[in-house]
Amino acid sequence: MPRYEYRCRSCGDTFELSRPMAESSAPASCPAGHEDTVKLLSTVAVGGTAGGGSRPAPSAGGGGGCCGGGCCG
Ligand SMILES: [Zn+2]
Repeated sequence: MPRYEYRCRSCGDTFELSRPMAESSAPASCPAGHEDTVKLLSTVAVGGTAGGGSRPAPSAGGGGGCCGGGCCG
C-alpha cells in the first residue's frame, strides 16, 4: 500500500499515511486532530524502502550468462 505524506497547516507537522490510491486525495487529519492538511508530493514507496531516492538497480548482477551462451551474437 503506498504511503503519502501530508503537512498540517495548523501545527506545521508532517506525517505519513498508508492508504489506498483511491483515498490518496481524501482529507487526512494530522496526529493532533487538525483537518487543515495538504498532501505533499513525496516519493511513493510501495516496496517499503524508506529514505533516499530510488537508484537504478543493476539488472545483471555478477556476470550473467548472456554473452557466454551466444545470445548476444
Ligand atoms: Zn496539526
